Amino acid sequence: MSAETGCMVAIDGPAGSGKSTVARAVADRMGYTYIDTGAMYRAVAWKVLRADLEVGRDDEEIGRLAGELSFGFRAVGDGRHLFVDDEDAETAIRTPRVGNLSSPVSAIPQVREHLVAAQRDMARHEPVVMEGRDIGTVVFPSALLKVFLTASAEERARRRYDQLVARGEDVSFEQVLADMRARDERDRNRPIAPLRIADDAIEIDTDPLTINEVVDRVLELLADRLEGYDGTAV
Ligand code: C5P
Repeated sequence: MSAETGCMVAIDGPAGSGKSTVARAVADRMGYTYIDTGAMYRAVAWKVLRADLEVGRDDEEIGRLAGELSFGFRAVGDGRHLFVDDEDAETAIRTPRVGNLSSPVSAIPQVREHLVAAQRDMARHEPVVMEGRDIGTVVFPSALLKVFLTASAEERARRRYDQLVARGEDVSFEQVLADMRARDERDRNRPIAPLRIADDAIEIDTDPLTINEVVDRVLELLADRLEGYDGTAV
């Protein structure tokens, strides 16, 4: 067990850039806790659909709802599932419909306020690898290592398409690519916490690399940062 606490690695990047796979592998190798913040925004979107709320019309209520939810990641089989108010939300939050809605939902300031507070709390007592869109810029600007993953839109859509098909979703590649482009555009251009690379983040273009090569690169960078790191919270 490590004595460190706080955000050891912040991984940001657009949808399908490989953040989840890389963050999970790095966390496993280091014995850190992996936190997928996109899952939390998806969970709010899922609750919005369930409660028949509408972005634009019911933003105040959606903000309040986000503050009332309790989030926890728990091991289930080989993976880690997001539990929302003690209900396993993992399957429900991965549908294209919830994915598309998570982007406008995440642009509501009160939603971000509540989720960022919950994310900071999760790193209070243990070392984490956290991935999302604003981890290095907003949630943990003093993370020990910040990485920004990129890949071409076609490559990212292909990865997302393969994941959805493996899950039994009936989708077309063109639709996945169009959804991804729309979501990226919105995430990059929103006024609060837009997707952007932090000044001190290291950008890795994953197009020419295998996942294992990306993981090894991040582990090397982390080993460098850990040299001379005195274990105080970041
Ligand atoms: O990472 P994932 O694609 O599951 O995230 C779903 C959506 O949640 C993103 O498109 C983005 O709008 C939002 N998000 C965010 N900030 C984060 C993580 C995700 O705004 N830190």
